[in-house]
Amino acid sequence: MDNNSVSLEMEKEHPVKILLVDDRKENLLSLSLTLSNQNYTLVEANSGRDALKILLKEQDFAIILMDVQMPVLNGLETAEMIRQSEKLKYIPIIFLTADNKASDNIFKGYKAGAVDYMLKPYIPEILKAKVEVFVELYKKNHELKAQGEHLRMLNMQLEQRSHDLTRNVQELEKFAYVASHDLQEPLRTITSYIQLLQKKFGDKLDGEANEFMEFVVSGSKRMKTLINDLLEYSRINRADVALDPVDCNMVLKEVLQNLSNSIKDSNAVVESEELPVIRGNRIQMVQLFQNLIGNSVKFRSDKDPLIKIGVKKIEGYFLFSVEDNGIGIKKEYSNRIFEIFQRLHSMQHYPGTGIGLAICMKIVQRLGGEIWMESEFGKGSTFFFTIRDYEN
Ligand code: ADP
Repeated sequence: MDNNSVSLEMEKEHPVKILLVDDRKENLLSLSLTLSNQNYTLVEANSGRDALKILLKEQDFAIILMDVQMPVLNGLETAEMIRQSEKLKYIPIIFLTADNKASDNIFKGYKAGAVDYMLKPYIPEILKAKVEVFVELYKKNHELKAQGEHLRMLNMQLEQRSHDLTRNVQELEKFAYVASHDLQEPLRTITSYIQLLQKKFGDKLDGEANEFMEFVVSGSKRMKTLINDLLEYSRINRADVALDPVDCNMVLKEVLQNLSNSIKDSNAVVESEELPVIRGNRIQMVQLFQNLIGNSVKFRSDKDPLIKIGVKKIEGYFLFSVEDNGIGIKKEYSNRIFEIFQRLHSMQHYPGTGIGLAICMKIVQRLGGEIWMESEFGKGSTFFFTIRDYEN
């Protein structure tokens, strides 16, 4: 809802009501005439008591115009009583008085802006202008209230949606975990019986049957990799994964050890700056670096891979970078590659499941950070990720 429509809605729902209080009929009449062209709803009271009676039933007045000199309950006494009511105390009052020393009493106990006065005989144009200012204030107040209410509603809807989303994600994670966990067992049975078949009857089968068997073996191997990756993915946010201080230099050492064969085979060189100690989970940090460095080696160009690992400290975060001189990624794929199962190449060219970067993203997000990539197609890519610096 924009400001104008809030304002129009408001005028429809809240006509501007003004209470006129004076013990003299002719004064009430002249006030009514002064304000008659303004589209206000005017309510008249001919004594302080009458005004209080009206205010007991209706509280939505934009302003009260009140004569000070009235018998029984004068204007100031009536105002005093109005001020004691929580619901009424913010209605602005303009006193009409013939006594030019009355102002001292009038302002006592009132917040600035909630009260004003005019000396009689008043000039109709000035009274009209004063009333307009207060009415404008009243409208703005209502507008703000309506907008506040609208915002509160939106906020509540957002909270509900984010709650639903979190629950959906948790349910999906649980499903992926249970499914991948339970799929392992039948797959193990298939793999072992196929191996047994190959061993026992391989020489009795003809070439075509053996070829088919090979397809089954390689299919089940791929399925095993997929299930393991999916299991890893769904485990990342599980509560039992502890967060401890982790020395990233040690993590890198372990990763280089794990990848030593492919690093040697590809002639890769990995250079790194001194890395910090962060708060995380050691196993997940190994997964993160291993996926990124492993990809830099896997997606190499015809040059020997050169991988540079850097880190910068920025306000409350560490900004890590893993830069390679590999095949690079076209700009349009820069976000897609972080989605689960998204791959840009066929299995024949580069093996993989398309889960690695999705795992990286989850690990980084769990540590309050973000991950993204910059690349020049054909020249290399740099993966950046941030991790909160728990000491700052
Ligand atoms: P996988 O490596 O199993 O294919 P990932 O999720 O790790 O899955 O990566 C998704 C895709 O992003 C890869 O298939 C590849 O196309 C692209 N990619 C990832 N890292 C790099 C890199 N360093 N250089 C070029 N392409 C990359």
